[in-house]
Amino acid sequence: MDAAELLKRQKEYFASGATKSVDFRIHQLKTLKELLKEHEQEFVDAVYQDFKKPELETYATELGVLHDEINLVLKKLNKWVMPRKKKQTLISFPSYNYTVAEPYGSVLIIAPWNYPIQLALMPLIGAIAAGNTAVIKPSELTPNTSAVLNRVLGKWFKPELVAVEEGEVEKANALLSQNFDYIFFTGSPRVGKIVMEAAAKHLTPFTLELGGKSPCIVDETADLEKAARRIAWGKGLNAGQTCVAPDYLLVHESVQDELLQGLKEAFQEFYGDDPFKSPDYARIVNKDHFERLCSYLKDGQIYYGGQFDESELYISPTILTDISEGAKIMEEEIFGPLLPVITFKEMDEVIRTVKSKPKPLSLYIFTKNSATEGRVIEECSFGSGAVNDVVIQLSNPHLPFGGVGQSGIGSYRGKHSFDTFSHTKSIMKKYFWLDIPFRYPPYKGKLKWIKRVLK
Ligand code: NAD
Repeated sequence: MDAAELLKRQKEYFASGATKSVDFRIHQLKTLKELLKEHEQEFVDAVYQDFKKPELETYATELGVLHDEINLVLKKLNKWVMPRKKKQTLISFPSYNYTVAEPYGSVLIIAPWNYPIQLALMPLIGAIAAGNTAVIKPSELTPNTSAVLNRVLGKWFKPELVAVEEGEVEKANALLSQNFDYIFFTGSPRVGKIVMEAAAKHLTPFTLELGGKSPCIVDETADLEKAARRIAWGKGLNAGQTCVAPDYLLVHESVQDELLQGLKEAFQEFYGDDPFKSPDYARIVNKDHFERLCSYLKDGQIYYGGQFDESELYISPTILTDISEGAKIMEEEIFGPLLPVITFKEMDEVIRTVKSKPKPLSLYIFTKNSATEGRVIEECSFGSGAVNDVVIQLSNPHLPFGGVGQSGIGSYRGKHSFDTFSHTKSIMKKYFWLDIPFRYPPYKGKLKWIKRVLK
């Protein structure tokens, strides 16, 4: 359907008030849960066809987290939709003050390819919970998953409520040119700027969930064996194509050797001597990304890994040391299974390095020193993070997820999704039984009373 016609139908449907009742929203969320169960294998197979993502990873990081999120919303929605009483002030006395969460209307969700089910449907849960209609534009880089999303959601939802619009950049642009009531974009900072410009044309409110280089710091007090396992897991997951993956490693020079050895052993334990043969290791999404990643291999010394196979779009988990000055791998978001390692002597250096770069989406610090932990968290600005682990903060829907500065604007998950997709309307209810005259002209003699109250 043409973008303008689709939006018109969604706006008419929204205007009918059909999406607003809580029962309706709960019914739609249960439908979403049911379709995820019913078509689970199709989703798993589609993501596997797109980049050989292992089934366990697809369940845990795409379908499972969606069930978890829906369960939370189903449990809490009745509470979240309630008007919230707010305090009154002397100036407004007597009044009753409250806020109401109101749906925006029709939401446009633009999703990336790297978690192609989760990042299309997680915002949808929030959009439906808040009482909106939604159009989802999935990524063209994972065509099998996008096709399943289109077919399955098309079967279970009417397009006035939820529609999937597959297509390339032109499709995204056609949708962006329409006057949606909210835009929720997940993707690169480069496209984020295009989305923001499009939103500005209609003054459409938006969320930008972007990416960037997420540092991972390991100091000399950390439990190196556990740190190595957790970092290797976070880098190997989805073959490193995770927006919050540890992008580069900053390790205290005194523990570099031990940590690198631990990382190597962890990768070997997870994926065997030849990760190419491992059923638990995904592939790179396309040739462009494969070539981009291979070009980084010359940016340092290969300590571990470094194998690749173009016909399979395979790149092994790789650790790089002695990174050359001005290397691209330290400028661009890696978004693949390569881990450049840089040593430090003092935490001051680390903080300076992190602060000299755009604010990251995530930051990880492995330490047993609580002063160091506190200092890093206080002095560095980043979207979300973890202490003594990586990536795992995303598993908790009670923690809002989003970036700051170049890594994004706004956040979502759980109650934060509900808030993101709702306009908070503030109401002051006044009564007729008292009408204090200070605000009315003529003002003569009233200023001194105003000054006594507002000082
Ligand atoms: P992308 O920005 O290239 O594409 C995202 C979406 O935007 C796709 O649907 C695509 O069709 C559309 N698009 C691409 N070019 C466009 C244009 N010129 N105009 C309008 N729309 C356009 O991102 P990607 O490659 O799919 O995903 C990788 C990026 O996403 C990385 O930077 C990663 O860090 C980030 N990311 C962020 C999060 C998060 O939650 N913060 C999650 C996953 C990925």
